[in-house]
Amino acid sequence: MSTTQQSSIPLCDPVACVAAGCDPIVCKGAGVPSNVTLFERSARVIPGGVNSSIRAFKAVGGSPYVVARGSGAHVYDVEGTRYIDLVQSYGAVILGHAHPAITAALREAAVDGTSFGAPTPREMKLAEAISERVPSCERVRFMNSGTEATSTVVRLARGLTGRAKIIIFSGNFHGATDALLAAGGSGVATLGIPGTAGVPPEAVANTIVAPYNVIPDIDETVAAVIVEPVAANMGVVAPVPGFLEGLRRACDKAGALLIFDEVITGFRLGPDGAQGRYSVKPDLTCFGKVIGGGLPIGAVGGRQDIMENLTPLGKVFHAGTLAGNPMATAAGLAALSQLTPDVYRLLETRATRLASLITEATSAAGLPVTTSRVGTLVGIFLGDALGSDCLPINFDEAKRTDEKLFARFFHALLAQGVAMAPGAYEAIFVGLGHDDVVMDDLAERFHRAALAVAL
Ligand SMILES: *Cc1c(COP(=O)(O)O)cnc(C)c1O
Repeated sequence: MSTTQQSSIPLCDPVACVAAGCDPIVCKGAGVPSNVTLFERSARVIPGGVNSSIRAFKAVGGSPYVVARGSGAHVYDVEGTRYIDLVQSYGAVILGHAHPAITAALREAAVDGTSFGAPTPREMKLAEAISERVPSCERVRFMNSGTEATSTVVRLARGLTGRAKIIIFSGNFHGATDALLAAGGSGVATLGIPGTAGVPPEAVANTIVAPYNVIPDIDETVAAVIVEPVAANMGVVAPVPGFLEGLRRACDKAGALLIFDEVITGFRLGPDGAQGRYSVKPDLTCFGKVIGGGLPIGAVGGRQDIMENLTPLGKVFHAGTLAGNPMATAAGLAALSQLTPDVYRLLETRATRLASLITEATSAAGLPVTTSRVGTLVGIFLGDALGSDCLPINFDEAKRTDEKLFARFFHALLAQGVAMAPGAYEAIFVGLGHDDVVMDDLAERFHRAALAVAL
């Protein structure tokens, strides 16, 4: 794509656009490409117009903004509208969009070649960087997404223990791995039922779904317990005191592995993630998001004796054509090198400010909203059913959130130029780009949006 065409997108004039080889179908009458026309065009070739279902706005209604570019805390849609971005690629771009350190690392890596099918120095360095920061990760293996990390870890746990059962928690999310796409009953641990069409009952026959924040019965048939140590896919739900420690003890007693899915929390809650924050050492950890600096990546880390069960040393198969990719590992290294203890303190200050500005704006407007915060992670729950100051501790409670009210608040915010993830159970993310000026701006926009919803 030529630079002419790129720069023509935000200012698309139908005549100039045809001359630049651009398609006038993306332009609305005024000569500006519209989110709606672009999205409709996408939907003619991409099912639902999206490559990850949540992006389609199904949970909130309406048609999504189509992002042309991002910079720091902001994204710009194809119509040229600027939003303060609280999605931050679901937490993957912790430094903010197009951070100079990431851009420079990618430029440097790209000219050396983007993939080889052979070992490379950067994957070694990123593995070292993770291992240095997260003591439980004596060995690290890379793949291309969090989903690949969770599917690998299930195979590894089963292969190593010779057991089939996996315990997961209702409201936790582990990506699009069949065995983990199980839904459970409410309140008690149940055998999983398929969480989506296309997952046969047999694929989840060995998956037990338990309520979050309660230690389930773990017996000698259980290969592993997989948990989000801070749940960040049902809003943000903290582990109650003793939950993670109790899981550790119960797993040890049953000879089952304890696996932390730190795809969101890893390198966001601090250099050693949730496991550092709560001082509980898992046997295996899944990573993704932050460790790729905004490029596709996943990783499994853990004890040497466990990790060496992966091929080629052991018998549990793992492979990936692009695994340990030079571009992704370059971006990941650049991201981790910026994430000093000072940066985490700064991010935590901002997350605290975010939570309090939301509370101030919504209470001034009389909207029933509760925010939850764990370190640098913020979640919001809307509606009267939750009660003020009463934070949910499991999915049944989180589901009391008023999804209709969320949808209205979401659209009011969008109209004020604030982009949140389009779902009532998503975390909201601040990054290095959200400086004091942006936070002040955000406070005003939240106020106006809350007032608009209250009307
Ligand atoms: C995002 C996420 C995943 C899946 O990662 P992908 O890179 O989207 O495949 C897994 N687990 C948790 C906790 C996540 O938040």
